[in-house]
Amino acid sequence: QSSAAFADSAIKFGENLKMGDTMNFILKKKLRMWCQVPDVGWQLGNVQSLFGQHAKILLADGKVHAMCVESLLPANPDILNGVDDLIKLSYLNEPSVLHALKCRHADDMIYTKAGPILVAVNPFKTVELYGNGLVEAYKHKNTDAPHVYAVAESAFSGMMKDEINQSIIISGESGAGKTETAKIAMQYLAVQGGGNGIEDKVLHTNPILEAFGNAKTLKNHNSSRFSKLIEIHFSSTGRISGAKIQAFLLEKSRVVHRAKGERSYHIFYQLCAGAPPPFKDKFNLKAANEYTYLNQSDCLSVSDVDDAQRFHTLMEALNTVQIRKEDIENAFAMLTAVLWLGNVKFQVVNSENHVQVIPDEGVESAAKLMGCTVHELMLALSTRTIQAGNDSIVSKLTLQQAMDTRDALAKTIYASLFDWIVEQINVSLEAGKCQNGGCISILDIYGFESFQNNSFEQLCINYANERLQQHFNRHLFKLEQEEYRQDGIDWSNIDFIDNMECLNLFEKQPLGLFSLLNEESNFPKATDLTLAAKLQQHLSSNTCFKGEINGAFRVRHYAGEVLYNTLGFLEKNRDPLYLDSVELLKSCSCQLLHLFASHILNQPQKLSGPQWLNGAYSQKHSLGLKFKVQLFRLMQHLENTTPHFITCIKPNNEQLPGMFENASVLEQLKCYGIPEVVRMSRSGYPTRITHQQFAERFGFLLLDVIDFQDPLSVAIAILQQFNVAPEMYQVGYTKLFFRTGQIAALEIARKNSI
Ligand code: ADP
Ligand code: MG
Repeated sequence: QSSAAFADSAIKFGENLKMGDTMNFILKKKLRMWCQVPDVGWQLGNVQSLFGQHAKILLADGKVHAMCVESLLPANPDILNGVDDLIKLSYLNEPSVLHALKCRHADDMIYTKAGPILVAVNPFKTVELYGNGLVEAYKHKNTDAPHVYAVAESAFSGMMKDEINQSIIISGESGAGKTETAKIAMQYLAVQGGGNGIEDKVLHTNPILEAFGNAKTLKNHNSSRFSKLIEIHFSSTGRISGAKIQAFLLEKSRVVHRAKGERSYHIFYQLCAGAPPPFKDKFNLKAANEYTYLNQSDCLSVSDVDDAQRFHTLMEALNTVQIRKEDIENAFAMLTAVLWLGNVKFQVVNSENHVQVIPDEGVESAAKLMGCTVHELMLALSTRTIQAGNDSIVSKLTLQQAMDTRDALAKTIYASLFDWIVEQINVSLEAGKCQNGGCISILDIYGFESFQNNSFEQLCINYANERLQQHFNRHLFKLEQEEYRQDGIDWSNIDFIDNMECLNLFEKQPLGLFSLLNEESNFPKATDLTLAAKLQQHLSSNTCFKGEINGAFRVRHYAGEVLYNTLGFLEKNRDPLYLDSVELLKSCSCQLLHLFASHILNQPQKLSGPQWLNGAYSQKHSLGLKFKVQLFRLMQHLENTTPHFITCIKPNNEQLPGMFENASVLEQLKCYGIPEVVRMSRSGYPTRITHQQFAERFGFLLLDVIDFQDPLSVAIAILQQFNVAPEMYQVGYTKLFFRTGQIAALEIARKNSI
């Protein structure tokens, strides 16, 4: 688990307090304290007596503890219990912050602000926080309680008012609530920007994407196994006019293999349970437990989920999004073909472990569905054609090779089908897209991952998170501080964890992780161990990298250290597809497969793979580099938007309501940089307005005539009239900078006078 790694986070809560003085005051006054009780954790208590560095504490449970002053921290007064923004806490130490979130979570107030960020703690139960009534309240700004709705509203009004595209960036670990949060934001926007019916289509993309891209894992019974960006487009009057979905990093290996207790993609089980009998007859579809790809992980159902009923929801959604009936049937036939492929078995026929396909129902049904002969399919799965000059040599496959070929084919069909579904949705949603309106993008991306065994997939996911963290840092810290500096504001920089070094590790050319991986993937004799040696040789000077024995290496990510095992890296990065398989798909009478094959063949880089791969379409640009390019495009898109950040927190690993595990929550808060954000927001000046704008907006409130009419003089006169304390604002060269909440009083006065 990711746990242990976060401890070296350089910044702790509460450093900005003059701790010595505060503590002395609190101890003397015998105020409430946080006491770190061994084996129990932080408890509230009152100081009874004090002898030098030792204190006697009366805990809430009536017990008296003697402890060292060092294990005490100031607690906030009761009046601050349940504050809706962490920056309002007087003491920002760890137990105080956790206590604040825990109290709110216990009262079903799952949303809390951390300065500019929304923190959402997963309730793991239905909470009464949603619905049209509340949407209306946020729309008319009748409430300012922290909420996803408030974030969506601020994105919407930002888009309308400033004519700048907006983004809502949702982060959090698996099961923290990212996808639910994204849906809640979409629901808000659908009401706010609804009216012409397209919003209904947009919302119905969710059950479709979830059916094809989500699965039950050990961490989340509805885990998204891909990352997505959904752009919602609006007309200039703020009506939803279309949408576009980008999906990336689909975990296609799940189709053929996964951990015990997890499932493959929901769609397979939904189809087996819910497809109407005529379909089942036509395509020879059986129950889920008959398919090796489904029954191998000892988990066929999800508690409280009725797959047959979900199938009907899916059909309704496909209908709403206007995917053609015929296309749907073809897609389902291909899913069935994938299932039958998984049942294809081989038998060893000679001493060299060569195999042939056992001609049974598996291969027969798969061939029929795909639109090829049984013979053709058997051949494609048990032999490989290698071009040697003008000759082609056919060789037999070993058992392992044959199984890999079969699985690669199944994965390719599924991944192509997934891309195709996304494409169909986009075609349908793009119909009415306005050219001149704005757009709001919602990003729901895999969170940081660190397991016992980490491979290429984790490397890609964690790299993406590293990029995203940089975006976050840049936005919240760098830009902020640069703005202060440019305007001549006195400001001592807050150190944030800059992750440039780690990004360099991945991105540098030619000697970065992805470049080296690509180079090695194109090298005939390379193995995972030669890759590991190469990484060690070229990356050791980067402080975020550390080579380990047995082909492993460590990367120090912003969220903690991760140990990667290079075993299988090259193969995953090459993502080879065998020539015979592509040829087979091309020759199939099934239109979809034909289309998939031409997609694969039309990707120029796929054709130019080195010969030595023996009949494999390798790729000049390996998966890693392709992902890097994809991510760059995504970041470019986000750079042109005003971002809104939501951090989802998973309060326990059991997916249970009413349970809040301090240690794990603290790690997540640190991992997403919440302490620094809170600290900076508290000591910073989040409201800023030019002298000119300020004078224009509030100038008419001036009671006295003043001598100088320049904007700054007017502004200063207003501030004096309203008794705004000098430490609550700073005057920059062009702007006035205010601490949180200061402008509110002026706005009220203004409202009352117009
Ligand atoms: P992630 O996308 O971060 O992996 P999900 O969004 O799928 O996590 O959430 C996991 C589960 O947590 C959901 O299936 C749901 O049961 C629960 N959940 C998340 N957010 C909420 C919420 N706002 N209200 C109620 N339950 C929620
Ligand atoms: Mg998700």
